[in-house]
Amino acid sequence: MFITFEGPDGSGKSTQMELLKGFLKEKGYDVVISREPGGCPLSEEVRRLLLDPAYEVNPVAEALLYAAARAQHVAEVIRPALSAGKMVLCDRFIHSSLAYQGYGRGLGEELVMAINRPALQGVWPDATFFFDLSVSDALLRKSAQKELDRLESAGEDFHGRVIEGFRSLCAKMPEMVRLDASETVEKIQQKIRTTIELNF
Ligand code: C5P
Repeated sequence: MFITFEGPDGSGKSTQMELLKGFLKEKGYDVVISREPGGCPLSEEVRRLLLDPAYEVNPVAEALLYAAARAQHVAEVIRPALSAGKMVLCDRFIHSSLAYQGYGRGLGEELVMAINRPALQGVWPDATFFFDLSVSDALLRKSAQKELDRLESAGEDFHGRVIEGFRSLCAKMPEMVRLDASETVEKIQQKIRTTIELNF
């Protein structure tokens, strides 16, 4: 089973992923945890380029770089793990590309999907948890944590479009489950576990 975690920076995705990993391991599942952009050596290298404040990246080039990183990650990590019957949990995947590049950068869903189709190699998440948080809360949480990278320091308008993008995707994509990221860690984890137990 392939489960992805999506939403703005600072919305609590990684904490929830770690908690879910513990829960699934206790249940006896073989769990693989990964992230995008990144997840394998070549894709981590692409991540470094993408987040480097030294570059001003053209939106199409940005979408292609995310897709290139994804192609390698899917081929090297995700597909083999799924084929071996493992449970794969991934921090960001295709829905981030649709929200950030499609809506945030304004490329549109269609172009981003076209760029990503070969990278996906038929792999699609069984469940995608969307951590919904207001732009102001997301920016507040993130700036309290660390120095911002190239993408995190993009303007409030950009982040607003990204969150609205995630919400539009959530309204029409059946694999997406909306979580209110302002709720407690325990409550959110409970909802994630219930969803997984009910559906799989
Ligand atoms: O979630 P994480 O911190 O790993 O994401 C790294 C950065 O890349 C974040 O600033 C995120 O907003 C950005 N990103 C993006 N487009 C994607 C995926 C992530 O702009 N498709």
